[in-house]
Amino acid sequence: MPVEFKDYYKTLGVERTASHDEIRKAFRTLARQYHPDVAKDKKRSEEKFKEINEAYEVLGDAEKRKKYDDLGADWKQGAYRGPMPGGDRAHEWRGGPESENFQFGGTGFSDFFEQFFSGARGRQADFGEPETEKGQDVEGVIMVTLEEATHGAVRPISVRRNTLCADCRGTGVKGRRPCPACGGSGQTTVTQNYKVKIPAGVRDGQRLRVSGQGEPGSGGGPPGDLYLRVRLAGHPDFRVEGGDLYYDLDLAPWEGALGTSVSVPALNGALSIKIPPGTQNGQRLRVKGRGLPGRAGEQGDLFVVARVQMPKEISEREKTLWQQLAAVSSFNPRG
Ligand SMILES: [Zn+2]
Repeated sequence: MPVEFKDYYKTLGVERTASHDEIRKAFRTLARQYHPDVAKDKKRSEEKFKEINEAYEVLGDAEKRKKYDDLGADWKQGAYRGPMPGGDRAHEWRGGPESENFQFGGTGFSDFFEQFFSGARGRQADFGEPETEKGQDVEGVIMVTLEEATHGAVRPISVRRNTLCADCRGTGVKGRRPCPACGGSGQTTVTQNYKVKIPAGVRDGQRLRVSGQGEPGSGGGPPGDLYLRVRLAGHPDFRVEGGDLYYDLDLAPWEGALGTSVSVPALNGALSIKIPPGTQNGQRLRVKGRGLPGRAGEQGDLFVVARVQMPKEISEREKTLWQQLAAVSSFNPRG
């Protein structure tokens, strides 16, 4: 099955020349609209969010973006020579059956993405060998929202995979002829649905093991395992580093100077924090224990990062006031 080219720039609504900052802004705006933790109409927003997240995953990362840009031209000419895994893909990932209390079906990434960015997969077992051998492990990617990482979730996924042909028991031969059910390959394709438990406290990059769902074994050997590598979905408000969350809080200059109280988003509902007088641009305020939970009971923190913004345009009256301030103030940033 041909894999459709994805125009990630179009998905985020940015120019190909867009800066990292512009890309990040575009993602945040769209994610605020479609993130399943935030959006009102979850069903409609889910697909859209997956696309946005995937696009940002690539364009928001300098290395992946370069790879994608390099590849784009080739792709359009129909002469793609990139790191396509050899032969047909043994596994295809699809959104799981819908159920009421799950927000995010499937692994959350398109075939296009997986072919380029999710690395090596298990190879098919060699059915020619007579020895008993365990099947190859198979690896995929699963996108997890911060909400799911916080509370844990059970996610139905469906995986199309090769399995031993039941008619010929994987020999590829029926009587003296090639087995008609599998065309002599000894394998057939089945779509299997299972539920993957996402434990609370999962971290980006962690692998979830689904026992016995890899490639079939040979010579009566047990099947391999399926490993799903967790990718935390981008969030409109937070950046994640380990178990800590970072939130950029824009402040007016006088808010930084005088201090203020503001409401900031957090995973379990907004919280009110005090900005002390004299808060500097880039200064981090730590809110203990409001990050992601960890497996051993340790809890990450939320860091609110002050971003003091200058007004781009000011009125005549404001100008007069700034001038008065400049005349009175003893502050010298270069002193
Ligand atoms: Zn067969």
